[in-house]
Amino acid sequence: MDCIFCQIVAGTVPSEIIYQDDEVIAFPDISPQAPIHLIIIPKKHIPSLAHLSEAESRLMGHMVSIANQLAKREGIFESGYRLVINCGKQGGQLVPHLHMHLLGGRKLPNALG
Ligand code: 5GP
Ligand code: ZN
Repeated sequence: MDCIFCQIVAGTVPSEIIYQDDEVIAFPDISPQAPIHLIIIPKKHIPSLAHLSEAESRLMGHMVSIANQLAKREGIFESGYRLVINCGKQGGQLVPHLHMHLLGGRKLPNALG
């Protein structure tokens, strides 16, 4: 298994797991781009948003719901935050395991490229 995020799920690469349930885990980004920068992933290896099946689309709603809960827990729910999913080469995806970034804690710049 050479996927870094699968290794975090398996516990073979250490990370501070700040949330987990049967389907999802969340941990701090190793290279934070904002005071709060968390990564939320499905435990299942799905390479990208483009590989999400219709049957798995409910998972995205669950991940958004977890992101909202974590935004509350991190104290940025009221001030505002951003969820980002990069997909594929031109979408800026570096780690080929579907993930959502939760960013906040500062005024974020326009990020529509
Ligand atoms: P992408 O560009 O694929 O959307 O974002 C991948 C993110 O994963 C980057 O923000 C990067 O800092 C983070 N990342 C890469 N490797 C690791 C790791 O081993 N541990 C953690 N916690 N984050 C990682
Ligand atoms: Zn993976």
